[in-house]
Amino acid sequence: MAVAMEKAFSKTLGKIIVPTDVSRDDSLRKGLLCTDCNIDITFRIEHERNMRIIPAGFIRKKGIEHKASCRYNTLGQVTIIAKDSDDNVLESINDSKFNLRLTLLHKSLNQVANNSPKHEMKHSIPTINQERNYQSKGNLSSYLATMKKIIELRNIVEDKKELHPMVEISCHNRKVKWEYFYYEPERYLNAHKYLEKLKWEERHPICIEGVIHELPYIEKLGKHIINLQWGKTKINSENIKYIPTVSVFLNDKELMKLGLQKGQRIALCALCTQGISKGKGTGREFFNIKAELYHKNQIVIL
Ligand SMILES: [Zn+2]
Repeated sequence: MAVAMEKAFSKTLGKIIVPTDVSRDDSLRKGLLCTDCNIDITFRIEHERNMRIIPAGFIRKKGIEHKASCRYNTLGQVTIIAKDSDDNVLESINDSKFNLRLTLLHKSLNQVANNSPKHEMKHSIPTINQERNYQSKGNLSSYLATMKKIIELRNIVEDKKELHPMVEISCHNRKVKWEYFYYEPERYLNAHKYLEKLKWEERHPICIEGVIHELPYIEKLGKHIINLQWGKTKINSENIKYIPTVSVFLNDKELMKLGLQKGQRIALCALCTQGISKGKGTGREFFNIKAELYHKNQIVIL
């Protein structure tokens, strides 16, 4: 299990090369080594998977693992993230298994959400609530930093499912399967269904991945929202088209400093709600998912 590599050591040239070097000169496909731990590796051409372009890169040969200390070893990377994680939000169970404690994240997300002022006051004196909010934002920041690293790692591993057996997710003393936690555009309808069925006391943050379709400023709310591109649709037995949509509310001004723009692929981790709205006599139903963001670490640009 490994992270895809953007460079390799070429024995032919005696130096470090990048994927475009191999695309230009086929003979460089042979004699490639990991730049970090020297195992034999191989070249992978650009290709499409799940409607996404997977760029050319270098990958491990079947059956040959990177050394444990190598930066391209997935387990090694998870171990590093766990060591750096505050309050053991990613906690080690044994040498090859970790527990992502979503309860911590959920609690501080909830606190920050509940303490957020509905309308901004310009000259307000700090209240107890605001001080408490400041503290919970501090915790949230470090929990989300860990979350962000996990999402980033998931994005660069050779096989997205690689992390699943390594990182177990728990919330409110219950295990949460990865398939109920992380959703790509093909599975927005599954996310909607999951949110609909989840009992109030079982609620937890989920991750949604997608491409930014538009980023309008909503005057009435005084904030920007992100609309992601529609997810995979479905047509029911009565010929009604189910269209899943995701709207992301940016509740912190810092979020607009991230340089978000149309066409970017992002992943976010948030408490989400769902609803259904009917298209006007058009045979369409919109399955809306709404996510609230309060912190810049809730979003990852992939
Ligand atoms: Zn290596």
